[in-house]
Amino acid sequence: MDKKLRSAVIAGNWKMNKTPAEASALIGEMIPLVKDADCDVVLCVPFVDLDAAMNAAKGSNIKIGAQNCHFEKSGAFTGEISADMLSSMGVEYVIVGHSERRTYFGDTDVTVGKRLKAALDAGLVGILCVGEYLEQRKQGITAELCAMQVKIALQGLTAEKLKNVIIAYEPVWAIGTGETATSDQAEEVCAVIRETVEAMFGKASADAITIQYGGSMNAKNADELLSKYNVDGGLIGGASLKAADFAAIVSAASK
Ligand code: PEP
Repeated sequence: MDKKLRSAVIAGNWKMNKTPAEASALIGEMIPLVKDADCDVVLCVPFVDLDAAMNAAKGSNIKIGAQNCHFEKSGAFTGEISADMLSSMGVEYVIVGHSERRTYFGDTDVTVGKRLKAALDAGLVGILCVGEYLEQRKQGITAELCAMQVKIALQGLTAEKLKNVIIAYEPVWAIGTGETATSDQAEEVCAVIRETVEAMFGKASADAITIQYGGSMNAKNADELLSKYNVDGGLIGGASLKAADFAAIVSAASK
């Protein structure tokens, strides 16, 4: 399949950065820089910034997402936010299973899968993050590990629901470290992820799914990473906090 037939998606992950006022200002800076993008442009912002971000992005091609959601619809889960709460306020995307959630907040492959299903049931697009720690890469288990993470998270989904899933391959050793996977390393694992989807859902679904690379992607390395057949976009942390850097990555994905 021609890669160009798949949706290219550049998504920013602001992590725990920016107040609502700062979020509005940064989105205001980004709007003119990304307005001609030939890819989907998403910003995943902190919960408290969602309202301001959606207002600031109104009328532009920037879509807004959250960085996590709980799998229950409501209940005694102090500090959590449900997928229904997000969709009811007009949020369109949500990240699930980011490595920082897995490492610091106890998310497991199973709970990530539950969060993804809740997101899809609520009508959100879920950005499912998978990826290996450096130790696991050294042990030579990257492919198996990422395939396993994908299999557990996508277990039980229909091909129809899968249409609202984006998978982000994010090697943990490359996140926020300035150390990027080579384009060949990114391509190799993204290809494994696509094969895993094919084994579960068939070729048409595998051909159509958007697979991103994430991990210190920036204005300089985006072109090379995004040139790979199985890399359909990027999940961008640090560089999404600077309008010009983020816009340069969006431009690279628009070629
Ligand atoms: C991320 O937070 O998903 C990420 C890829 O971060 P960074 O681009 O800063 O490595």
